[in-house]
Amino acid sequence: MISQNIINRIIEEVDIVDTVASYIALTPKGKNYWAVCPFHDDSNPSMSVSREKKFFKCFSCGTSGNVISFVQKYEHISYTDAAIKLAKKIGVDIDEFDTPEYRKNKQFYQAMDEAKNFYQFYLNNTAEGLKAKLYLEERNIN
Ligand code: ZN
Repeated sequence: MISQNIINRIIEEVDIVDTVASYIALTPKGKNYWAVCPFHDDSNPSMSVSREKKFFKCFSCGTSGNVISFVQKYEHISYTDAAIKLAKKIGVDIDEFDTPEYRKNKQFYQAMDEAKNFYQFYLNNTAEGLKAKLYLEERNIN
C-alpha cells in the first residue's frame, strides 16, 4: 500500500506532460498538449494533456486520468506499480519508507537514531566517555 500522501505528491510533482511525452509524441496547441490516443484506434490527435490540471483526457474514447493512471494504462501494470515507478522520479523510495511497518515504527527508529548519535558523541568526546569506551573495549564490545 502506498499512502495517499505519496500518491498526491506524485500527481503534484511528476510532470504529466514530460511523462506522457516519454511514451508518445505530444504537440503543443494552446494551453494543452495533444496526442494520437494510444488507448483506441485513433488517427487524429484526440487526447489532450494538461500540465496545469495534471490530467489527460481522450475526447474520442473517454479515457482520462492523472499521471499515474496514464502509466498504469499504457504499461498495463497496476496503479501501485505505476506509482512506485513514478515515485522514484521525485526521489521517494517507497519500498523503504512507505511500508505500514516503517510508518508505525518511525518515531522509534528516530529515537534510536538520536540515542545512538548521543552515545557515540559522548563516548568519543568526553573524559567519562573515554573511561566507558575503554571498559567496553576491554569487554570486546565494539
Ligand atoms: Zn482514446
